[in-house]
Amino acid sequence: MAQIASVQTDLYRVPLKRTLTDSMHGTMMDFELITVRITDADGASGLGYTYTVNHGGAAVATMIQRDLTDALVGQEAYAIERRWQDMWWRLHYAGRGGHQTSAISAVDIALWDLIGVRAGAPLWKLFGGFDPVVPVYAGGIDLDFPLEALLDQTDRFVAEGFRAIKMKVGREDLREDVARVEAMRGHLGDGFTLMADANMRWSVDEAIRASRALAEYDLTWLEEPTIPDDVRGHARIVTEGCHAIAAGENLHTIYEFAHAIDAGAVTLPEPDVSNIGGYTGFRKVAALAEARNLRLTSHGVHDLTVHAMGRTAPSWRHTASGWRTTSRTPWRSSTASRSRRTAPGTGSHSTSSVSPRCHR
Ligand SMILES: [Mg+2]
Repeated sequence: MAQIASVQTDLYRVPLKRTLTDSMHGTMMDFELITVRITDADGASGLGYTYTVNHGGAAVATMIQRDLTDALVGQEAYAIERRWQDMWWRLHYAGRGGHQTSAISAVDIALWDLIGVRAGAPLWKLFGGFDPVVPVYAGGIDLDFPLEALLDQTDRFVAEGFRAIKMKVGREDLREDVARVEAMRGHLGDGFTLMADANMRWSVDEAIRASRALAEYDLTWLEEPTIPDDVRGHARIVTEGCHAIAAGENLHTIYEFAHAIDAGAVTLPEPDVSNIGGYTGFRKVAALAEARNLRLTSHGVHDLTVHAMGRTAPSWRHTASGWRTTSRTPWRSSTASRSRRTAPGTGSHSTSSVSPRCHR
């Protein structure tokens, strides 16, 4: 038994060293980081987090503080599925996906971390793991980089050990995208795993046209070619385009994933443990993917995701997001091509490296 004694929620603004841009989210100056520390009656604690890009973090933090904390304190920490259902139904009318699942994610991750800390075991083992060594890719947020900067970044990724890289596409003129992908393929050589992410930039017809124009560059996947809400459109892109389609960072419930998978709208489901409802949600999406004979990949928060991907057999997973660290994040992910976890829980249960200057 481990009764929850306290829930502490904090909000940080994490300025980026370098302004980043993708095709639809615009200029990114900072991330907002919401941390949740759950302490049990024995004094053991677990740490979870979620994040937003630029805006929205205060709403998530407030939701946890005002609407979830009192439902958690005094309850059994080990009963994570029950805690999850309690949170889901408590916030159901106000949300379902979005801020609600981000808030639940931070709490769920903290609960799993607590259980791992108490057990003295990394989460991939507690999940009934397959292998803690997970191949990862480097994801560049590089749409506005001049070509020279894009290739310089690529060289750094390769020097750091990455053997898979994801670049951004979705520039104003499709010919620019084609030229940049062609340059990347030429720079990396045949056989190097390369993906491209359009961040929802195109209409369905534009996406099909783009996929065909990029057909000869051996992209492992094309990510989020159009808005996540257009499930039938995604299915058309899968059918009429030339690429495997990855999507999921903007699908925030297991039901949204089920709709997309059942419609043939996604080839590589790509959940983000920090917005799909934590490890509890992520693992359900992984099971959905496996049941439909689809390989899983992941979005963001590699330091957390590696445990969920380490639980999944290689037959049912592709590379995990390596989330190239470009900001003052408290936990630096491994930048090697493969990463291993041995510390208890998530292995991230210290916020001592968070600069107080970043605290909001
Ligand atoms: Mg993406």
